[in-house]
Amino acid sequence: MKAYDGMYIDGAWRPAAGDERIEVVNPADEQVIATVPAGTAQDVDEAVRAARAAFPGWAATAPAERAARITALRDALAARREEIAGTVSAELGAPPAFSRAVHADLPVAVAGSYAELLGSHEFEEKIGNSTVFHEPVGVVGAITPWNYPLHQIVAKAAPAFAAGCTVVLKPAEDTPLVARLFAEAVHEAGFPAGVFNLVTGRGPVAGQALAGHEGVDLVSFTGSTAVGRQIAATAGAAVKRVALELGGKSANVILPGADLAKAVNVGIANVFSNAGQTCSAWTRMLVHTEQYDEAVALAATAAAKYVPGGDRLGPVVSARQRDRVRGYIRRGIEEGARLVAGGPDAPEGRSTGYYIRPTVFADVTPGMTIAQEEIFGPVICVIRYEDEADALRIANGTVYGLAGAVWAADEATATAFARRMDTGQVDINGGRFNPLAPFGGYKDSGIGRELGAHGLTEYLHTKSLQF
Ligand code: NAD
Repeated sequence: MKAYDGMYIDGAWRPAAGDERIEVVNPADEQVIATVPAGTAQDVDEAVRAARAAFPGWAATAPAERAARITALRDALAARREEIAGTVSAELGAPPAFSRAVHADLPVAVAGSYAELLGSHEFEEKIGNSTVFHEPVGVVGAITPWNYPLHQIVAKAAPAFAAGCTVVLKPAEDTPLVARLFAEAVHEAGFPAGVFNLVTGRGPVAGQALAGHEGVDLVSFTGSTAVGRQIAATAGAAVKRVALELGGKSANVILPGADLAKAVNVGIANVFSNAGQTCSAWTRMLVHTEQYDEAVALAATAAAKYVPGGDRLGPVVSARQRDRVRGYIRRGIEEGARLVAGGPDAPEGRSTGYYIRPTVFADVTPGMTIAQEEIFGPVICVIRYEDEADALRIANGTVYGLAGAVWAADEATATAFARRMDTGQVDINGGRFNPLAPFGGYKDSGIGRELGAHGLTEYLHTKSLQF
């Protein structure tokens, strides 16, 4: 076990203000692997002061200088690929191959995309007799979750740096170690002191202090809807900008004429990767009544390939999350859904570790709790629909609207359906993830967009001068 010290503030690791510590647990074996300091309001205050002091200088740099630093950051992250993947596997529980391909490589791609974007992004435009300037918002308070721990950090920090903002990060308490690696990479990349600051700590203490700090101009939060609401209320009272990326309950709509086997197999992989801890996962599979039984059988077969502790399915992040997911599985059974794979008990031979049996529910009706609430584990609901109108009603029938998928015989049919979905992103016939496309939600899934040029805009103010 390693005891890490210090917060990264003003370009150096300095001692934490308090003595409290957070234990980091490996969810695969339930062992404490490290401890980090639990930050207090005082640590947050020092970090915000450093970020404020660094802001004018960083905001005044040329885009090419910011691009050079972000490129160096990308390279520093790429050089740490194995260390990052190993760290995420240890603190989150993701299988090694997934940690490398997604947890380590996606942030490198996202950082690189912002370095590139700076080569062409216009921070100035002419509108009639006005010149409009796009200026950095100021100090960003970034509060991130544990499910894609490095990606969530980079999806906030990289566009903030690109815009000319400075950042104070409060990462999730379950996954602080990869956040420390990020701080090391920022340091190595040669950013001026104070442009990036890290305070590890608990949500209700360090997180709340950061969200409510008067020196923070924008709070960017990813996590649960309940905490997001609270942060938006705090930010609202202070008339502060806020970006929220919250939960989801996305629909995978399989229309008649689609390649059913492909749609089901990709759909299962989408939900079960990262042990189901993906906000944009297509956790509701919507199938036409005539293909329903076939789809359920295909889903059960596909689920059997996910063996807890095997190379595709790790544990969930914590005992709390395991209990929460198992609670939902029990609730589904109580409400009358039919279990065709998995269940609430520990997987065979896995009494240690926070493992969940990959679970497929059939005969799920749209009003059931498991069809409405975000479960955040390897659990999928297969829901029957009668016709397209019914499918659309079900797809749009939750408080969320983050992502989704539509499969049809042709793109035009799928596109027409997707355009009527109340959701921020839809993959058509298996269209692949695009790290430049705006990512974010409708309804309770959030406010604002991350990634690409839209993600950069979140961190910019608009000023117009008339001539
Ligand atoms: P959470 O919302 O409590 O935590 C997310 C981040 O917010 C963490 O850094 C946490 O420390 C911080 N936080 C918590 N309370 C805070 C407060 N009062 N003020 C400021 N910051 C605070 O999420 P969780 O408890 O880790 O997970 C619970 C559920 O949230 C999950 O089961 C899942 O449904 C959902 N979730 C969604 C996402 C997503 O990507 N949208 C990510 C993680 C969790």
